[in-house]
Amino acid sequence: MSATNAYPVELEAPDISAYRTGNTGIDYVHTFDSGKPGPDAMINAVIHGNELCGAIAVDYLMKQDIRPTRGKLTVAFVNPEAYLRFDPAHPTKTRFVDEDMNRVWTPERLNGSDSTVELRRARELLPLYDRVERLLDIHSMGTYSDPIMLIHGLEKERRFTRQIGYPAMIACGSGHVEGLRLIEYAPFNDPASDRIACLVECGQHWAKSSADVAIDTALQYLHALDMISAETLAAHRHTAPVEAVTVADVTHGYAIRTDDFFFAENFKGLERFNKAGAVIAVDGGEEIVTPYDDCILVMPNHRAVKGQRAFRLARLSEAAV
Ligand SMILES: [Zn+2]
Repeated sequence: MSATNAYPVELEAPDISAYRTGNTGIDYVHTFDSGKPGPDAMINAVIHGNELCGAIAVDYLMKQDIRPTRGKLTVAFVNPEAYLRFDPAHPTKTRFVDEDMNRVWTPERLNGSDSTVELRRARELLPLYDRVERLLDIHSMGTYSDPIMLIHGLEKERRFTRQIGYPAMIACGSGHVEGLRLIEYAPFNDPASDRIACLVECGQHWAKSSADVAIDTALQYLHALDMISAETLAAHRHTAPVEAVTVADVTHGYAIRTDDFFFAENFKGLERFNKAGAVIAVDGGEEIVTPYDDCILVMPNHRAVKGQRAFRLARLSEAAV
């Protein structure tokens, strides 16, 4: 255990060099066309370079020859420059090269004059995001939280992620403090568009379980789109199916205000607090408490510093109760 990382690296980053030259004209992007009518769907891995589970899931689909039976499927290693620098001795270092690639999806940044590794790659991939009808963006988290599907909360997203039916928790809303995530890039966040993006947080970045969850989310996504059969799903799934999904609405995102912030406990995420007033954290001597009963803590970030989001709070969606 190093001073900077308390989480063991149980996963091995797959060698993706063979995937560099694809058939799309964009490095590390491949499209498989069934030749039959159907969805134009995409699966993203490693928009954050140190989140290995997405690379493992896409590598699995490629090696196991899992191909769409209708429509076309595009798979992408989104930030290969960051991913290729991954070093298990310093696993936290390679989230990005120049900047967080999941904050740049605003017209100002994409059309602006800044030139970072992540912006250049975002601009290269943009024609895909302007075209695909469905997108699954695979991520992982800093703590041993159970997996979560994150969406805006638009009706089209709620319907689609319920169809995917995995993992067990769907959290709607943003709660973040700066920039826009890819799933917030138009047209995905436009209620009038029928294109849909969702983001899955599969578990701790380097926990073996997060790779299993990433593979199964990708399979259930393809099955929900009727692009692989139930038999293919059953033959390849690594974890048990989910009986029923829970939907929660993110109501708050908390950004740290002082240099003296700490969590009340070593929360891992998805803890539920029955009563309002439960202490989540202390910031500059002030207790930060749950604002309502039956509050769920989502994605506590124990590495966040002043100005950054430390956690989100969510409440169970009416429809799910
Ligand atoms: Zn991520």
